[in-house]
Amino acid sequence: MGLKARFVKKMMNTVGRRSFQQLVSKEKKMSQLDNVHSAVEESPERFEIVFEALEYPANQLKLFSSIRTMKQIPSIMRNLTKSLLSIEENPIESKKEVTDDFLHQFESYAYSLNIASIGYARLPSKLVFKEKAVLHDKAIVLTMEMDKEKIEQAPSSKTATMIMKTYDKLGIASNKLTEYLRKYGYSVQAGHPLGGLVLYPPLAELANLGFRGKHGLIITPEHGPRVRLTAIYTNIQNLPIPSENQYKKIGDFCEKCFRCVRKCPGFAIRDYPVMNSNGLLTHIDNKGCFPVFLEYHGCSICLKECAFSRVDYNKLMKQFSDQSLDPEFV
Ligand code: SF4
Ligand code: SF4
Repeated sequence: MGLKARFVKKMMNTVGRRSFQQLVSKEKKMSQLDNVHSAVEESPERFEIVFEALEYPANQLKLFSSIRTMKQIPSIMRNLTKSLLSIEENPIESKKEVTDDFLHQFESYAYSLNIASIGYARLPSKLVFKEKAVLHDKAIVLTMEMDKEKIEQAPSSKTATMIMKTYDKLGIASNKLTEYLRKYGYSVQAGHPLGGLVLYPPLAELANLGFRGKHGLIITPEHGPRVRLTAIYTNIQNLPIPSENQYKKIGDFCEKCFRCVRKCPGFAIRDYPVMNSNGLLTHIDNKGCFPVFLEYHGCSICLKECAFSRVDYNKLMKQFSDQSLDPEFV
């Protein structure tokens, strides 16, 4: 480990650890408030990647080894904190309905902030992580595209830096969109893509933004799995929540593909996801993924190798439907 890397690790171990601890205790305090949408017994625990990483042997850790990758951390922390504290700025008497025109205007603003797709969902309590809560049970789910060229270089510090930048940009956009809704009289809370209070991939599926692949990531028609996710929580009652998911065929494709399962260096992607007693699916074995993730710049090989990262969604699905393509050979 070089001098710079040792410095970054030391900073993460002192300032980084303290800020994340403060954040987690703010999240916990929020879960103890009245009238919030809290976790339930079936809720999953959030995997605390930052704390786990800080316990990892320093000489093997590549995730925190680049100053460029870690440069985004202060801004990410600021926006994470803002997303929690700014709920105090919500109007006391909030509006509960939107017009089509307003929603259209909101979506145009979101696209101007580089949001790739927007969906709406009811948030089931069991998707809220244990000891967390959000203000409301309706979600505006947002995706942001990650750079294709940098994903193709995974695993590398360039890929990791781009991913951290995307986390930061999406966190900033989430806070801006929340401020926008507040300005027009709505009660809202911004989510952040890093960590998050809610399990995002199944929420994105409920919002009809795509479908989870064998790697557990949401595969979108616009950019395949090459997106990061976040959500804004609100009590707007008439959001256009879809009644079903239109992308279930992605699951049929996965059943014939298994490419990510074969390519995962940690042997962490299950052939078939495990259905837990709480009704939630687990796709990845963390014990297999985690060491590779930390030692190889956040890995992301599953993302790079997914058939939907290699070939455009519409082309792939068309060839799959007319049986002119065998998914095993994408
Ligand atoms: S990040 Fe790497 S180790 Fe983890 S599941 Fe994806 S391919 Fe496997
Ligand atoms: S690589 Fe294949 S099996 Fe894995 S998620 Fe992508 S399409 Fe599904």
